[in-house]
Amino acid sequence: MPIAESVFSNRGVASARKTSQCPICKADAIIQRIIYYVDLDACPEYHSAVVRQYASLAGAPNLVVVTGERAVEEDVTCQSCGRSFGVTTPIVVDIPSRDIMVFVTHMGDDGGVEAGFRTWLRYCAKLLPKDVMQAVATRPYTFVHGWSGLEAMLAMLAGNAYHPAPPPYKHATADELRFEGLKGYLYGTAFFFYPRFNAVSEIASTLLDFSTGAEHDVARRDLAALLQLVLETLREDHPWLSQELGRLYLDLNQKDEAMHWLKRALVAQHQWLAVTTSFMDATPGTNDEQDEGGSSFPGGAMAVNGPVTGTRHAVTRIYPANRDFGLWCFPEMERHAPTIRPERFLTVASAVLGTLDRMVWDDNIGWDRMAVLSLAALGGDVVEWLEHWSLDPSLANAVERFWSDYIKFRWHGRAGRGELEEAERLLLILDDQIAVARKRLPEGALVDSRLRLFRFGYDPVVLLHFLAKSRESLLKRLSDA
Ligand SMILES: [Zn+2]
Repeated sequence: MPIAESVFSNRGVASARKTSQCPICKADAIIQRIIYYVDLDACPEYHSAVVRQYASLAGAPNLVVVTGERAVEEDVTCQSCGRSFGVTTPIVVDIPSRDIMVFVTHMGDDGGVEAGFRTWLRYCAKLLPKDVMQAVATRPYTFVHGWSGLEAMLAMLAGNAYHPAPPPYKHATADELRFEGLKGYLYGTAFFFYPRFNAVSEIASTLLDFSTGAEHDVARRDLAALLQLVLETLREDHPWLSQELGRLYLDLNQKDEAMHWLKRALVAQHQWLAVTTSFMDATPGTNDEQDEGGSSFPGGAMAVNGPVTGTRHAVTRIYPANRDFGLWCFPEMERHAPTIRPERFLTVASAVLGTLDRMVWDDNIGWDRMAVLSLAALGGDVVEWLEHWSLDPSLANAVERFWSDYIKFRWHGRAGRGELEEAERLLLILDDQIAVARKRLPEGALVDSRLRLFRFGYDPVVLLHFLAKSRESLLKRLSDA
């Protein structure tokens, strides 16, 4: 692609000359000017160079035709033998106005793209002014395949329809048809999400439902302690949770703690924000085009602006993600994304469910229906995971510990761990609570958990399950003693 000379002197561009050996004459005579980083807001020349590519291909305005997988390729000439070569390099395309960085890569989807990006960013850091690098270090980033991926991404961010690249794709998978709930950000016809936090996204949103509904400082303090415990157990800052913890501390007038967590939340934004256009959105009016299925234009011209992280939302992802193929589909990398281990998940879940169940059932604080529903749904999910993991002998201890931890958080202060007297006293409390919960049990006809949620506003079967399992765990502890 021909790059205007003015681009290289733009303040928003980091470029450097690199000399390499000619594969033919072996002289160190290939001199290449590599653009490592471009700020698209600061350098409209580069943006228009990209736009010109597709404008020439598309007959109509607002329609981008993406034609197969192409690389960001540049012709270089050996200064010694005069032969020319096409050289492909990755590039970081920063779009501060949308609060997203796009790493254009030509590598396969082997799970190593993120490491490649970080290496590339280290080159950029040597070339960019400090203030620019500081902003870069807090910006979410995403990955696209080659020039076609970048074209489609820019079209999408501009609210333009794009014509998907035709197959074959180098980076496609033959997944069976399936669906998966995602929590993230809705942006026009796209959905951005954190693959790293998929495993705890239900836990995170339940915590947020409670935290935003907390009206008294006692509840706020409990929730702040819980959020902090969750973040420490995850050993990685979930941007939503860190931000909410900062907000809670502001409400509690603890300014230093608030600043600490708000700063951490800012840094936590700097991570892979994967993108998909293959999803269903149950919200009416936001994503009508997606429901039509076979449309050749994913999304019509839809006005979008501001940061991609502006609108938190939940959608259902559809596999195989054929609308993402060849553009920003990185299934291998998603599978390799560092994710939470079952043991750590159970530690987090026991603290969250124990504390929130106590707040709802034992502390007599009025919570709104949405928060209670979200807790009931999370409880049901965790019951399923526990059943699944209890089949794995290597997780037997973790499953057992889940229940003793749950008891500790749920009846905090009423049952010291390992203290028999406390355990016996707690057993009596549990017998009472189980008797009450049994009376609330629905008729046999209401087997569907969604129907139970709809009728009761919580799930009495899940409630009883947690009480009965806690009793079982306590009895075992007593008999082991
Ligand atoms: Zn040569």
